[in-house]
Amino acid sequence: EAKKAGKDGFSIFSSSIARTVTRKLTIERALQHLDFNSELSLRFQPLFCTHAIDHVVGYEALLRWHHPTLGAISPGEFIPIAEESGKIIQLGHWICEQALDFYQYAKQQSQRNDLFININVSPKQLEHEGFVDHIIKQTHAHGLTPQKINIEITESAMMCEEDRLITPLSYLYELGFGIHIDDFGTGYSSLARLKALPLSGIKIDRSFIQDITHCKESLQLVQAICAIADTFNLKVTAEGIESKEQIHILQTLHCQQLQGFYLAKPLEALDAQLLLKQTLQVAV
Ligand code: C2E
Ligand code: MG
Ligand code: MG
Ligand code: MG
Repeated sequence: EAKKAGKDGFSIFSSSIARTVTRKLTIERALQHLDFNSELSLRFQPLFCTHAIDHVVGYEALLRWHHPTLGAISPGEFIPIAEESGKIIQLGHWICEQALDFYQYAKQQSQRNDLFININVSPKQLEHEGFVDHIIKQTHAHGLTPQKINIEITESAMMCEEDRLITPLSYLYELGFGIHIDDFGTGYSSLARLKALPLSGIKIDRSFIQDITHCKESLQLVQAICAIADTFNLKVTAEGIESKEQIHILQTLHCQQLQGFYLAKPLEALDAQLLLKQTLQVAV
């Protein structure tokens, strides 16, 4: 095909755009006809205590979509489309209910009152007045209090739409919900601004964690982020842990929590919950 397009760079360009647009329309249509309970599910990726690496401190709920003909579609691909079409509101309600169902059950089964659950929330959800009401109602309906329920919002969303997000986030924060900035380090926020936001913690983006074992600049950046978080009393989570060398470095920094494939992948509810009953078999 590339040969046929030859010198005509434009047709290569336009056909790749056409494919992208077609794929997007396909996903948009599939989302319109989404059968929530048969196509969607949540995975739960454990978070661990940096200094007691076999201790699960909580979970992050991650959405999965398996379409009957299109197969598995990653959240990185369909969440932005759902945000654009407004479908994210309905999705967000479903995610919130399912995550709290799991959390309530895991907490009850394990008798672990310190366990927490992290839920990813899109800025479009937060701007929608129905969402705040929904999460509060669902928290009560599950017999839970907000204290161990953390909302994850990406740094880029936070920085782009801070003005519109500050009211709902402050409200949830005042009620006791945790607010964590996701993918921290990628959104170029000024570190000083962190102090002004209603925040409980930050999650350092995988791209920085990946490099700390061999890139001095990344290590220095992570050190600086951890030091500032400490000053502002923010809990730090390192995401994307893929080696024990990374763990060893992070154990020397102000970083309380670790998450990543080396420790545990996102798990089905049952496996996630079973993890609370056994000791993790990971070499550190
Ligand atoms: P995120 O919130 O930063 O989630 C972490 C992503 O990194 C997840 O991808 C997870 O599977 C992956 N991950 C975790 N540990 C490792 C590791 O050690 N190595 C590597 N290479 N990857 C790791 P996933 O599940 O595909 O989610 C991608 C993004 O989609 C999430 O990034 C989040 O922004 C969004 N997302 C997922 N579920 C939801 C949801 O329920 N609601 C909303 N609004 N967004 C969601
Ligand atoms: Mg997240
Ligand atoms: Mg993240
Ligand atoms: Mg991420």
